[in-house]
Amino acid sequence: MIKLAETRLDQNGVQQLAEHYSALEWLKRARQLQPNEAEFLIELSGRACYKSFGVGLNPNVTMIRENPKDYISNVLAKGDGSILEHATVTFAFLNVSRILTHELVRHRAGTAISQESLRYVRPRDIGVWMPSDLEPISGKFAEAVEEIKRRYRDLEAKFDWDKMTFEQKKRVTSALRRILPDGIATNIIWTANHRTIRWVIEMRTDPSAEVEIRKVFGQVAAICMRYYPLLYSDFTSTKLPDGTYQYAPKFSKV
Ligand SMILES: Cc1cc2nc3c(=O)[nH]c(=O)nc-3n(C[C@H](O)[C@H](O)[C@H](O)COP(=O)(O)OP(=O)(O)OC[C@H]3O[C@@H](n4cnc5c(N)ncnc54)[C@H](O)[C@@H]3O)c2cc1C
Repeated sequence: MIKLAETRLDQNGVQQLAEHYSALEWLKRARQLQPNEAEFLIELSGRACYKSFGVGLNPNVTMIRENPKDYISNVLAKGDGSILEHATVTFAFLNVSRILTHELVRHRAGTAISQESLRYVRPRDIGVWMPSDLEPISGKFAEAVEEIKRRYRDLEAKFDWDKMTFEQKKRVTSALRRILPDGIATNIIWTANHRTIRWVIEMRTDPSAEVEIRKVFGQVAAICMRYYPLLYSDFTSTKLPDGTYQYAPKFSKV
């Protein structure tokens, strides 16, 4: 798994916004306290709602939370999660199964998805990851995978691919994949905002979740807690009997 991209600030734009809100003093102080661009953008967007960059900008505001940690903690505790939607992270999940991708795409809110096409892409290798539950029969499992590969290559060899148009290849590739297993290794690029990532980590590292997606979202959780410590400050991890980790937030579904 690779962390591919994340939201960054346009420093000129931030400066202009701070000028607009007469919040240059706040900006100077806040950037020193909060070098993390995603967390800063979220705080900036939230403060813009109430002009809470300092006392006096909004006559109704008599005190503000100066510290980014206090600010974000309060957002999480109150469940004001919409501002977490301003910043996203993009991950590449590589060599994951179609089982995982099928479960992942059920999470619709706040995501962008680009999944390897198994209509266009005719597999060269048919890799299948074996969960540890099958260790007692690992030999039989490997044999079954080899059998599927052999049967696929037999059917594939019945076509003269060099003489086929691209459209014909696409049609036959798509038809042939019907005998391939759900476990086939594939790739997916997944972008989600932090509100969504928090939710998907919670759902997919739950002990009741499937083991592969639990492993992958355990890694997502570890990355997010490392790179965005305030946004994930309320998550704690518990080791499960199979060696994977559950990551549970104090504040669910902000
Ligand atoms: C352990 C586990 C077992 C599962 N088993 C099954 C199963 O057997 N069969 C099956 O079909 N699915 C199953 N699922 C998938 C599950 O039902 C959800 O589809 C999936 O987890 C996506 O979560 P979500 O509905 O919260 O959607 P997300 O897209 O992650 O949305 C997040 C939240 O936004 C809100 N939201 C999103 N879309 C809408 C909308 N259209 N209208 C109103 N509010 C919305 C909801 O509050 C939702 O919880 C399982 C999931 C897990 C984690």
